Amino acid sequence: MPPAEPLPDHTPIAIIGAGFAGLAMAIRLVEAGRRDFVIFDKEDEVGGTWKVNTYPGCACDVPSHLYSLSFAPHAGWSRSFSPQPEIWAYQRALAERYGLYAHLHLSTQIVQAAFDEAEGLWRLCTHRGQTFTAQVVVAGMGGLSQPSVPQLPGQDSFQGAQFHTQQWDHEYELRGKRVAVIGTGASAIQVVPQIAPQAEQLHVFQRSAPWVLPKDDYEIDVAVRARLDKYPALLKLKRWGIYWALEWKVAALVLAPALTQAVRRQSLRHMRSAISDKALVETVTPNYAPGCKRILLSNDYYPALARSNVEVVTAGIQELRKDSIITQDGQSRPVDAIIYGTGFKATDPVAPGVVFGRAGLDLVQAWAEGPKAYRGTTVAGFPNLFFILGPNTGLGHTSVLVMMEAQVDYILGALKTLEDRGASWCDVRPPAQTAYNTWLQRRMARTVWSTGGCQSWYQDARGKNVTLWPGFTVGYRRMMRRFDPEAYEWSTTPAQG
Ligand code: NAP
Repeated sequence: MPPAEPLPDHTPIAIIGAGFAGLAMAIRLVEAGRRDFVIFDKEDEVGGTWKVNTYPGCACDVPSHLYSLSFAPHAGWSRSFSPQPEIWAYQRALAERYGLYAHLHLSTQIVQAAFDEAEGLWRLCTHRGQTFTAQVVVAGMGGLSQPSVPQLPGQDSFQGAQFHTQQWDHEYELRGKRVAVIGTGASAIQVVPQIAPQAEQLHVFQRSAPWVLPKDDYEIDVAVRARLDKYPALLKLKRWGIYWALEWKVAALVLAPALTQAVRRQSLRHMRSAISDKALVETVTPNYAPGCKRILLSNDYYPALARSNVEVVTAGIQELRKDSIITQDGQSRPVDAIIYGTGFKATDPVAPGVVFGRAGLDLVQAWAEGPKAYRGTTVAGFPNLFFILGPNTGLGHTSVLVMMEAQVDYILGALKTLEDRGASWCDVRPPAQTAYNTWLQRRMARTVWSTGGCQSWYQDARGKNVTLWPGFTVGYRRMMRRFDPEAYEWSTTPAQG
């Protein structure tokens, strides 16, 4: 890995985050013949979420051939659903292949970004206190990077191990231990089957049960991989087959939630085939419409719950003591380790005092009523700042990489327009942003995420869904194909740096 160039005083494009979003942006810039960018990541390697999540069982629940970049396809996936080490290896290989390490400043956190309207550029500062300017900032930090750990009474007095799934303690030996897993979301249901056979006793603290479907997970034969490698058209066909098979599913989520009844029936069959204890079946049957929270895929979660050393606990946690968890029904469970599978701070992605736009406006203030952006990418008052996977661009049914790629296209269009107009910056007009969000929230109102009778991380504290795109990705991709300069205010002074 060649070392990055020294940090410049000025860069035309600063990309923050070297996960899939930052990598996709950088690769498309390289393909467009541009080398005038730098990428920052707080971690010591590329990969983002696939670098930091290393918990046992960590794997993608979107099929491999779609969970990869369309312009950098990979024929060598060993399974239909890739495990984390393979996805991370693919990302490192991409960074190598496109010469991105020369642009990368790893172990470098951007702690502040402020728009200087007089100079028409961004002033950024790293955690080491280094400062530099950028004409354009691309924010690819992702919404699922800040772990959410509940504050529990007595947490500090607990003397065993406690860690979040994203901060897995690989030094800690779970074998023979009494373990509690808090949460039953996408991460927890991958962890539970891995540790259930090792732990002496496993308590799974379930606040609300997930809908779980079988996972069509199988090894991809070496001969098949070789054929896909030899015939790129076949690989493309496979990708598009998966894309369309998943794409139609969103119809049930956004247009006709009643159609999710088929998921309910399939999930109940899946559950009952693994769990014979009727009381346990009742405990793990969700009380909201399928799709309201992410539908999970697993073949080993229900069998793990049916083990004799596993208990599903539905009573809320009252407090932690030195070596036990006390629940609200007064029961005490001695535990050696607590694993928080409690998700991420998805609806509060930015801390106060970090991003300042025109007139010194803090992004947190601009988002006081919840994060919102124009087409999930630009925010009024924050010129030349482009988000990848910004507000309302998440998905519940297919690969988010599809959304990222559409946003990268749009940003490339913006960069070209800036250049063609000799402009220093563009700022989305507030009426365009307001009209877009009014339209989006109107569509959101009829989706299963709003009507399905659940509380999920998709919604902020006011119950507003600020994370998901309420439609087909085809529609989003069509909308993002053309950059629309008429929605923006333009400034040509001072001249572009
Ligand atoms: P999550 O889906 O937000 O699940 C968090 C779990 O913790 C939920 O069961 C939640 O219960 C529970 N919880 C949260 N706070 C709690 C508290 N104070 N007390 C008790 N329980 C609490 O988080 P995640 O499993 O880490 O997944 C987050 C997202 O990451 C997923 O939706 C997905 O987008 C992504 N992900 C993807 C994959 C993949 O394979 N592609 C794998 C892992 C994660 P409630 O449901 O009641 O809130």
